[in-house]
Amino acid sequence: MTKIIALTNQKGGVGKTTTAVNLAACLAALDKRVLLVDLDPQGHATMGSGIDKHELDGSVLEVLLEGRRASEVILDCPDAGYALLPGNGDLTAAEVDLLDRDGRERCLGEALGSVAASYDVVIIDCPPSLNMLTVNALTAADGVLIPLQCEFYALEGLSALLDTVEQIQASVNPSLEVFGIVRTMYDARNSLTRDVSKQLSQYFGDTLLKATIPRNVRVAEAPSHGLPVTKYARLSRGSQAHRVLAKELIRRLSL
Ligand code: ADP
Ligand code: MG
Repeated sequence: MTKIIALTNQKGGVGKTTTAVNLAACLAALDKRVLLVDLDPQGHATMGSGIDKHELDGSVLEVLLEGRRASEVILDCPDAGYALLPGNGDLTAAEVDLLDRDGRERCLGEALGSVAASYDVVIIDCPPSLNMLTVNALTAADGVLIPLQCEFYALEGLSALLDTVEQIQASVNPSLEVFGIVRTMYDARNSLTRDVSKQLSQYFGDTLLKATIPRNVRVAEAPSHGLPVTKYARLSRGSQAHRVLAKELIRRLSL
């Protein structure tokens, strides 16, 4: 069965896109058939997959709003090892246009319906807000994976996100799960990181994933080469950490 995972956190800069791209690459390297969906108008997951967001023949926007088939727009990213449903700035219009639609929360789920079965995992990279695009991702998903930086304000944002997850469960997607919280840009030498980490562990128990992603310069450099870090710097700490994360998710979600 295909698992659809939404990478969500309404805070920007917490590592959603980085986790989405590198997790997609690691799962693909472990022989999973992976589709990455770029649902952020910034198009960073598209660029990070080696695809020029300004030169797209079609994007997730047309699939969402214009009834174009996802299969016509999906691109192969041979270097990264997965398939990509690309996105770019055109998606900004979708945030507004979706509001006028009947069944506006379900547009993405319906669009993915025809292609999802061809993949073991679909990973959706969400925009940094709880807007209608994110609601579409949460409605289409089986579960959310929440990247989080262990800093003081992180916990505050987390409760708003979990409230949204509950609202979606109560309305359009009762089976939506929280698959896990992943600590990103993790620095165990920093005492605030350790304190926040401890609180997360006490409060969330097993929902807090064991794998942590360290702050690593190779991870930050990889997107400028249009590659996941596992291809750009295979032996780096960042690369190894994403592989550990992928294996933990394979076990946890029976992928
Ligand atoms: P989001 O998608 O949540 O906005 P990004 O994945 O784009 O966050 O990450 C924000 C910035 O932090 C980017 O410049 C990215 O390269 C950098 N970054 C993310 N994860 C790491 C990491 N583990 N080590 C170093 N830099 C990172
Ligand atoms: Mg992003």
